[in-house]
Amino acid sequence: MALATLVYQNEVSDAEWETRCDLAALYRIFHNMRMTDLVYTHLSARIPDEPDCFLMNQYGEMFDEVTASSLVKMNLDGDMVGRQGAFNSAGFTIHSACYLAREDVGAVIHLHTKASIAVASVKNGLIPMSQHSLYVIDDLAYHDYEGPATNLDERESLGRNLADKNNMLLVNHGSLSVGRTIPQAFRNSYYLEKSCDIQVAAQSLGDEIILMDQDIIEDKEGRRRAFRESEDVGRMEWDALIRQLDRNGSDHRR
Ligand SMILES: [Zn+2]
Repeated sequence: MALATLVYQNEVSDAEWETRCDLAALYRIFHNMRMTDLVYTHLSARIPDEPDCFLMNQYGEMFDEVTASSLVKMNLDGDMVGRQGAFNSAGFTIHSACYLAREDVGAVIHLHTKASIAVASVKNGLIPMSQHSLYVIDDLAYHDYEGPATNLDERESLGRNLADKNNMLLVNHGSLSVGRTIPQAFRNSYYLEKSCDIQVAAQSLGDEIILMDQDIIEDKEGRRRAFRESEDVGRMEWDALIRQLDRNGSDHRR
């Protein structure tokens, strides 16, 4: 398929270009972690100086092909802004639902990993059985499957179910994580996905699972201290990941 023409740095604001570079990096990071599903699933970021617009991959590109210039820009009504390109309509439904429901959301990550689909498809969902799961267990919502998310009406139930949480398991479908920034959304998604991975591995052993003590699960304040929750959460890990991309010659800023 023919992909859209590219957007150049001098055509957009500094804030948009910086967001494009970070979002393209995010695609490369998930590619490197093998958390892709061919050309499906999508990651997006709201443009800071145009909060009614967000960036997403053009439909048809692999995650390791995405660059700052190749991302498509659209508004919350689904209109392309600037240069035209294809986008995944289910992606538009899911991502715009989050931006419409939550003004604080600056980035959205939607994945179809084996582990997240598996955990999203069992009755008890994610259980508090690993230290990793404590990062997300009380910041997790669920959304029942309503078919491929091509019907814009689903935005209402998606937003309502997400409410004030930053992670969601889409039943029979995959994972969704949001954040105020791209690094925060990445961190949320990483811990949700890692928790699902661990749970699938443990449950496959067929032995009884040791759940964490209830007082540990309920000690949210202690957890916030231990996990260094702050406005800048996720930044240290993000900077390390960007250094790793650069060390390996990534061209995501093209
Ligand atoms: Zn999906």
